[in-house]
Amino acid sequence: MDCVFCKIAKGEIPSEIIYEDDKVIAFKDQDPQAPIHFLVIPKKHIDSNDTLTDEDSFLISHIFTVIRDICRKLKVNQDGYRIVNNVGEDGGQTVKHMHFHVLAKRSLNWPPG
Ligand code: AMP
Ligand code: ZN
Repeated sequence: MDCVFCKIAKGEIPSEIIYEDDKVIAFKDQDPQAPIHFLVIPKKHIDSNDTLTDEDSFLISHIFTVIRDICRKLKVNQDGYRIVNNVGEDGGQTVKHMHFHVLAKRSLNWPPG
């Protein structure tokens, strides 16, 4: 499958990895929208939240605890951060491999555009 994030997960294309374990990988977004902007993805290909299965429950909760730990390590947990998961066309999803954006180190607007 020609998926850019699968290639990043396999190390076939370069990325600035900030965390990795057997299930997930976190790397810097190539087009950062905040001073800190990284993506966390499951290594396993999942198209989007719409194709999640019940078996993926642990994986998704694991992603959130990984984000918690990275944000503590980066010391942005006190000021706060935003976790974003875009789904499908209207959600603004451009890469069809499920991913969570984490943005920090600036005051983020609400509602999003
Ligand atoms: P989304 O619009 O939610 O699908 O977000 C896709 C994100 O992936 C965008 O913020 C892109 O800047 C980012 N992106 C795409 N390709 C790469 C890459 N090779 N390395 C790092 N970030 C990427
Ligand atoms: Zn993929």
